[in-house]
Amino acid sequence: MKPRFGSLTFDRGGHQHLVCHCLLLEVGDGLVLVDAGLGRADMQDPRGRLGGFFVRLVRPVLDERDTAIAQIEARGLDPRAVRHIIVTHLDLDHIGGLSDFPHATVHVMASEFEQAQAQLNAHDRQRYRPIQWSHGVNWVQHRTQGDSWHGFEAVRSLPGLPPEILLVPTVGHSAGHAAIAVQTSTGWLMHCGDAYFHRGEVDSTAPGCTPGLRFFQWLVAYDRKARLHNRDRLAELSAGSDDVRLLCAHDPTEFARLAQG
Ligand SMILES: [Zn+2]
Repeated sequence: MKPRFGSLTFDRGGHQHLVCHCLLLEVGDGLVLVDAGLGRADMQDPRGRLGGFFVRLVRPVLDERDTAIAQIEARGLDPRAVRHIIVTHLDLDHIGGLSDFPHATVHVMASEFEQAQAQLNAHDRQRYRPIQWSHGVNWVQHRTQGDSWHGFEAVRSLPGLPPEILLVPTVGHSAGHAAIAVQTSTGWLMHCGDAYFHRGEVDSTAPGCTPGLRFFQWLVAYDRKARLHNRDRLAELSAGSDDVRLLCAHDPTEFARLAQG
């Protein structure tokens, strides 16, 4: 995405775009996707699916090769092997790809699902786009039940998925936002979605955030106080544990670092 007001949004001398970072996990003989980004249908009908406001302001780059399904195919994998998708939240730039995987079960926090369905106000009608789930989604809604992980409440048992994949509620950006923690062979990887936008927000050794991203997060937050509280908890987690690596959805530098391995 190449939003307007780029000079306020991007790091000086850094990448001049934002990414929609999805994770693809190999689990047993299947694949699991964390967030779905923008999908093929969004590329084909951006105004209808995403709305003119988003298209004009955020300016998504409409290249089908960037979609999760195209990336999966480019690796010689079968998109039909994606049987589960776990989403951090239901904003349009995180679930447009759901329709590319119509047979997948989609896991989401119940509070996020309810907020998106309710279409309460103009802001929610812009961010939550029913057309993106109009193909009929097999949703599984989750609530916390007293489990915890590294001091956070967590949803530990996702039906059909191994215990190495957890939902960690991090409300603030949206009503039922969650991070997804995945135990890998080299420690925990935590997809924090939009709980923060700039890696400097959770890195005490190189703190920072651009003014554009700071303003945008303030503007769109469902609960501003909770957002800052949870972001700071993630920063503490990152600083205090060697075996948890955070990533967010939109930071291109984080994306490039992880792509290098
Ligand atoms: Zn987002």
